[in-house]
Amino acid sequence: MRGTKLTYDCSNDKWVREPVDLSVEREPFQEGGMRLAYRARERFPDGGEIDVVLKCFKEDVLQGQDEGELIKSEAMTQMVAEDFAQQFNKLCSSKGLPHRLAFVPVSVAQIPNLETFQDETYSVEPFLPGDYKKYNDNNGHNVIESDVVGAFCYFTYHQTGGSLVVTDIQGVGTFYTDPQIHTLDGTGFGAGNLGEDGINRFLRSHQHTLLCEQLGLPSPNAGLSDAELAAKLQADEADIAREDEAAARGARGADEDEDEDEEDDDDLADVIAQIQAAELAEREGRPWVQG
Ligand code: AMP
Repeated sequence: MRGTKLTYDCSNDKWVREPVDLSVEREPFQEGGMRLAYRARERFPDGGEIDVVLKCFKEDVLQGQDEGELIKSEAMTQMVAEDFAQQFNKLCSSKGLPHRLAFVPVSVAQIPNLETFQDETYSVEPFLPGDYKKYNDNNGHNVIESDVVGAFCYFTYHQTGGSLVVTDIQGVGTFYTDPQIHTLDGTGFGAGNLGEDGINRFLRSHQHTLLCEQLGLPSPNAGLSDAELAAKLQADEADIAREDEAAARGARGADEDEDEDEEDDDDLADVIAQIQAAELAEREGRPWVQG
């Protein structure tokens, strides 16, 4: 199947266009929360071929949004993340540290549907063979602890003066794909950009390790007194409890019938009361909330 491939050039802030030749499997081999992933083979004019993955959004995720624009945003996010990865690798190298990581190059492929002859848009990137792992998500949860991944994400925050953070790190070995970027003003980088809230969630989950120190990245708690640190941790815990409860409520709301048992309601009322107490304590500047 022949079509067009657009690749974002970070340094010149433009999309480079070239022809593409792909054979795509009919059925997806994997799916994420938002996208379907198809195995494919990309053929190059010099006769070379590589295994690639094509991704498109699920219908229910799209809900009328422009798929082409969404896929371009995801591709741009990944190329910007790769730019940060190169800066991180240079910093590690300058400190005599062996850590290196990379985001696989991703492009946007526009290929005709063989039945409708309409162009369809996919992201296209090299297939990563091996054990695919997720290290953190874009909601401030660490899935697999990794000092290097943690230091990299924090590096992107520090390097940009706190204006963004690259997160949602996943892939095989030290080759990653599908990152998300949260920006302070919440603009750009697609639907996964949770703005300042996303940055704060990341900071709460950040483990400041020896590697961060070796890279010269100052702790987000640097300069806080013990009392200030205790108050911050307390406020963080209250935020986390509130968000987890909101997420649980959302999940319950989706699954449950109307006949919820009373015990659950009592538990929920307790949690809400605790959260309200924490919010009140925070507003009044009291560092500790009685359990
Ligand atoms: P995503 O929408 O990027 O989360 O992709 C959905 C799933 O496809 C992931 O959870 C992985 O299992 C798989 N996958 C995504 N990208 C790749 C890749 N480049 N190589 C191999 N597997 C991938």
